[in-house]
Amino acid sequence: MNIHTIYQKFPTNADCLAYLEQVRWKGTPCCAYCNSKKVIMRNEKDRSRRWFCKNCRRSFSVTVNTIMHKTRLPLQKWFLAMTILVNAKKSVSSHQLGRDLDLPVKTAYSLSQRIRKAMLGNQMPILSGIVEMDETYIGGKPRYKGISKRGRGTQKTPVIGAVERGGNVHAEPVLAGKVSKHQLRDFVLTKTETRNTNLITDEYRGYKKMEKLVSNHLTINHSRTYVDGDIHTNSIEGFWSLVKRAHYGQHHHYTKPYMKLYIGEACFKYNNRKLINRKHGKKVFNELLEEMVCTAS
Ligand SMILES: [Zn+2]
Repeated sequence: MNIHTIYQKFPTNADCLAYLEQVRWKGTPCCAYCNSKKVIMRNEKDRSRRWFCKNCRRSFSVTVNTIMHKTRLPLQKWFLAMTILVNAKKSVSSHQLGRDLDLPVKTAYSLSQRIRKAMLGNQMPILSGIVEMDETYIGGKPRYKGISKRGRGTQKTPVIGAVERGGNVHAEPVLAGKVSKHQLRDFVLTKTETRNTNLITDEYRGYKKMEKLVSNHLTINHSRTYVDGDIHTNSIEGFWSLVKRAHYGQHHHYTKPYMKLYIGEACFKYNNRKLINRKHGKKVFNELLEEMVCTAS
């Protein structure tokens, strides 16, 4: 999907609403309040596409109880914002989005945060096979008292991540305190199919005894070499570099509570990376739209 297609396919708000109805109800409209299927559109020519429920006698549109509930923006701008955000590999700042869509920065900010929330909802299946795991440190208070330390021991916010080689990524910020052995263990237990996982990490002590959880655990000694045949963590490092380019290039600072949303955005794009192109872009757009209509505001 690209901006051009959005303008072509969805020239009016009614076009956007009709498309959302398809995505949300899949041909069987139901009441957004009581789930009853006894619903009718009173006036087919009505551009606002209001539905009426014969069961609870309330009227509603398809955006009720979705992330777009009560929005004052034309839906075309939502569709455009989604497209811009999905296609921007290194993300987009609210200032940039505001300029592109002719919106105040605050509006662009809340719009993009809500789209990120939907991206975060798009969870991938758990990982198996060769799984690289690592942590990185982002944002927080950089340059604290002079120079902020790099890596473990810094004031920044830790993020734990694991990627299946050639497959999907899972990543989550640690919002309170430092990375602990327990958090790393929990991450492995919830994000990987442990009995079918060959875990690769560096020699950080937090990963000690991981071999007891997974089928095999190999480590790479980063003080000596970064690649030892198939034993490397290049895939997860590649993902971190995407996350960091979005941070340094676009957003500059993440406030801790919202870190999850930015990491979720990076995961969504990484996991759909093979589909974000001219041929398959529509699939990614629809997937995101599905999350938008099923994620409450
Ligand atoms: Zn109803």
